[in-house]
Amino acid sequence: MELTDSYKHKGMRRSLVRKLREKGITNERVLDAIGKIPRHWFFDEIFESHAYQDKAFPIAEGQTISQPYTVAFQTDLLEVKPGKKILEIGTGSGYQACVLVENGVDLVTIEYKEKLSLLAQQMLKYMGYSPRFIIGDGSLGYDKFAPYDGIIVTAGAPTVPKALIDQLKVGGHLVIPVGNRDQQKMLRLTKQPNGNITKEEYSNFSFVPLLGDDGWRK
Ligand code: SAM
Repeated sequence: MELTDSYKHKGMRRSLVRKLREKGITNERVLDAIGKIPRHWFFDEIFESHAYQDKAFPIAEGQTISQPYTVAFQTDLLEVKPGKKILEIGTGSGYQACVLVENGVDLVTIEYKEKLSLLAQQMLKYMGYSPRFIIGDGSLGYDKFAPYDGIIVTAGAPTVPKALIDQLKVGGHLVIPVGNRDQQKMLRLTKQPNGNITKEEYSNFSFVPLLGDDGWRK
């Protein structure tokens, strides 16, 4: 497999980054990552022209690659720092995982659908990224490597799964869209030293559902 990244693609990425700035994204590390990662590699060649529009797009198994604005917004909320251990729930295409790894984090990424995880594993290996990939139900978190400095959920949850709070370090953020199947509010929950959880609410988003034991039951 030999994928190309031409001047045309790089130019389209620069205009995507400009668009994200116009929409209020100011995190330079996140913008640099989006400016660097060839998002068109996650698309079939015939749909390549969609790769640098600021929108979500269908991938295999009825799932989506998140909108670049959403990826930037969630990554910014997570306040990632190099070396921090982050759990991503919903590997999907692997694009968000690339953005996180570009931000220097030690990433564990879990995906429910085996086929998607295997495709993402193949692509990220080709790109030279090596997070830890897990296939399983992320609504239960992933206990083996817990606790995490931060947890990002890239699918819409009906409620906040308890395991994710349990697996978060003190001071860590859980960034999760919570709501009904069509629309969710982005939440940032933070674990305080006394064990209390504080909650900040942001705008509405529309994600595919978080399935699993502590998500939507099909
Ligand atoms: N982060 C992804 C990307 O950059 O392409 C976007 C992911 S897509 C919006 C949501 C993903 O969450 C889907 O791939 C879906 O299969 C996955 N998912 C849904 N429920 C899950 C669960 N309980 N555990 C892990 N992954 C889950």
